[in-house]
Amino acid sequence: MTEAIISFPPLLIGHEWAVDLLKHSLSADRLTHAYLFVGPPRIGKTTLALFLAQAVNCLHPENKPCGKCLACRKIQRGLHPDVRVIDEGGGSIKINQIRELQNEATLSPFEGRQRVYILCDFQNATLEAANCLLKTLEEPPPRVILILTASKAELLLPTIVSRCQVLNLRPLALDQVEQALQTYWGVESRRARLLARLSGGRMGWAIEASSNEALLLEREKHLLVLEQALSEKRIGRMRLAKQLSQSPEELPGILELWQNWWRDLLLAKSGNAQSITNVDREQTVLHEAQHYAMSEIYACLRAIERTAEQIEQNVNPRLALEVLLLSLPKSGESGSN
Ligand SMILES: [Zn+2]
Repeated sequence: MTEAIISFPPLLIGHEWAVDLLKHSLSADRLTHAYLFVGPPRIGKTTLALFLAQAVNCLHPENKPCGKCLACRKIQRGLHPDVRVIDEGGGSIKINQIRELQNEATLSPFEGRQRVYILCDFQNATLEAANCLLKTLEEPPPRVILILTASKAELLLPTIVSRCQVLNLRPLALDQVEQALQTYWGVESRRARLLARLSGGRMGWAIEASSNEALLLEREKHLLVLEQALSEKRIGRMRLAKQLSQSPEELPGILELWQNWWRDLLLAKSGNAQSITNVDREQTVLHEAQHYAMSEIYACLRAIERTAEQIEQNVNPRLALEVLLLSLPKSGESGSN
């Protein structure tokens, strides 16, 4: 048996248009002082930000970022004194962190060309922090680049968004994720196909799932809850809604998973089973698809989408989930068309 040759993974996979744009701006000396990278979690926003930090500080004469020079390597390892990533991992960036940044940003870079501050998930920053950062965006210190990331631009103050160059990152093609997993992370082909589908084109999620079994186990658990809800009567569904609402931070992911499941049933029902997400459960998808009418599947998709929107708008999650779960059909109850 021949061993696959695994290349060293590049910092960034995909987002070629954004890379071209940033490289072009750099070579034309037209980088702006503030960027906002927008896109769903684990799509590559922070990675693209690190890529830009490398590009401006790379020591290579032409091919920036080379990924190999001392500056590039230090940035990749989080050891460069002029590149700071502020990531509260779901928590909020506070005003004292912005003040600290402002004090430091007035100093010249230690060893690089430009100081780069990467402020992750800025939609979670406190209002005081956001207002405080506004001052820096209005009067940026020289040799400083601020890169904000956010899941949606609408969740930030419009005055912040208008002072940044906004780059909207889209999910990668599933083939590209699948290929990269095999080439650079040594993932076996069937598994790479499954992870690529489940990632929905979010490379960061796919990479993490390739080495962290917990992400797939979590998926099993959430699909099981859906299955259970469909088989339960009113009381059981109310109980599940209560249980689920106790971990509100997990809800967006759970709802997305459920949506993928119903979309798979729709694909199977319309003869497009080759495009389903849950490729490891193809037989179940094909079987289940027969139990629901098209109209029921559409109704489920709409109901889940509505619930996801409500939860984003801070509607009481337990109420929203009760409405959703009670609206789902009973498993295997209805017709075949
Ligand atoms: Zn370099």
